[in-house]
Order: sequence, then C-alpha cells, then structure tokens
Amino acid sequence: MNAKISFRGVSRTYPVKNTVFTALDDVSLDIGDEEFVTVVGPSGCGKSTLLNLAAGLAEPTSGTVLVDGKPVTGPGPERGVIFQQYALFPWLTVRGNVEFGLKLASVPAAERTVRAQRAIELVGLGDFADALPKTLSGGMKQRCAIARAYAVDPQVLLMDEPFGALDALTRVQLQDQLLDTWSRDRRTVLFITHDVDEAVYLAGRVIVMAARPGRIHQVIDVGLPYPRTEEVRLSPEFADIRNAVWQAVYHQPAAV
Ligand code: ADP
Repeated sequence: MNAKISFRGVSRTYPVKNTVFTALDDVSLDIGDEEFVTVVGPSGCGKSTLLNLAAGLAEPTSGTVLVDGKPVTGPGPERGVIFQQYALFPWLTVRGNVEFGLKLASVPAAERTVRAQRAIELVGLGDFADALPKTLSGGMKQRCAIARAYAVDPQVLLMDEPFGALDALTRVQLQDQLLDTWSRDRRTVLFITHDVDEAVYLAGRVIVMAARPGRIHQVIDVGLPYPRTEEVRLSPEFADIRNAVWQAVYHQPAAV
C-alpha cells in the first residue's frame, strides 16, 4: 500500500500532577492514498490526539507521523482539518470565511474568489454565500467549514467528529455529500467519530481504539461497495459489520 499517512510507533504522554498519563501508546498505522478511514472508540481513547498529531497541532512524545513520507512538523495546507465546532468567524460571510482559509494558504486574491465560489457550490451553499454564520443552521455552518477546507484543495482531510453536533437527518445528508465528493476526488480521509453506524457507513476500514492507554484495539475491513446507498445501509451485511464494530468498541477487555 502506498501510505499517505503513517503513524510509526507513536506515543503521546501528558504530565498529570506527579505522574505521566499515556494518551496514545505505540500506535502504528498506515493509511493509504485515496483511503477513507474512520476511527471509533470510547471517550478518552486518544482519537483526537491521533488526529491532532496528523494535523501537526500536537507532537508525538516518541515515534513519527509521516504524511507523504515527510515527518509532520506543524499544520500545513496539504492537510485540511475540520472539527465538530465549526470555528467560523462570525463577522465574515460564508464567502469571507472560505476565502480566509485560502488567504492563510497564500492563494492570490483573484484565484481566491474563484476557488471559494467553487467550494461553496460544491457543498450546496451557493445561495448563502453572502450570509453571516449566525443566520445559518448547524448543518449549513458545518458545510461552510467543509467548503473552507475543500477550497484549499488539501491532499488529506482530517475530520474530528465533524457531524457530532448535528441532528440525525442532517448528519446522514452530510455523510452522503462527503462520500459523493470523496468518490470524485479520492482525497485521503481520516475521520474520527463515536458513532458506530457513521464509522461503518463511511469507511473502507474502521480503526477501533481502546483506552488507558489509548491504543489500536482492532482494525476492521468494511468491504461494502461504494457508492454507499440507503440499500447498503439497510443491508444484512451492513448490520453484521456494524455489530462487529459495536462489539469491538463496547466489549473491550480491561487494560492490563
Ligand atoms: P478522545 O478523542 O478519544 O475522547 P483524546 O485524544 O481527546 O480522546 O484524549 C485522550 C486522553 O488524553 C484523555 O484522557 C484526555 O484527558 C488526555 N489528554 C488529551 N489532551 C491532554 C492535555 N493537553 N493534557 C492532559 N491530558 C490530555
């Protein structure tokens, strides 16, 4: 496999009072180019830590994180990061927010306008380009955050519970839209969620993590065909994999 993101023996500890807390313990994982990988696991198992290391927002205590074979030393425009909290600037319109991301990536002004417009249309916000975030629903705000990431045209999307704050219907719509875009551009996606259905529906591979210390517990190949349709979601095969992931998440052996 041609690895786009590699975690090689990655550990991350935090000093806590007089001791050291191990948030991630010796994680090794290769994520292939064009792969869609989801990560699930109980709260506190290190999912966000894993994503933050790939994003360059945290450093490993030991081991290396590589993107395209190069060690991650900080955030970079080739990695788009999307969090649960939309983190939009309230005083900027949808267009302003998307263009701001391009400005940070040093894209010239004329090109910013064109690329922002394309990304805004891609996520279905064409009619709301001049709207301020406070006038948008949660789903629309998240679409705006996704457009901001897409506009920069990153090679890798790092998504940390991006749909976690949304109602069930909006969530399913954004899942379908994300898969639709992914099937066209095949950007590598690392997607964190605590929702087992979401993890299975989106991914080619589900990484199940365990806590204390945070580590990879099981890797489950989904093996269902794309495009993922309602038919796939309601199929017995989907139910089997969901049950396997559920078992792996909720019936973990206690740490030794
Ligand atoms: P998850 O995303 O799976 O809920 P996190 O990666 O957010 O887990 O956190 C893993 C563990 O590391 C948690 O127990 C959390 O309290 C701890 N942790 C994360 N960041 C810090 C920090 N900056 N300082 C101390 N502990 C932290």
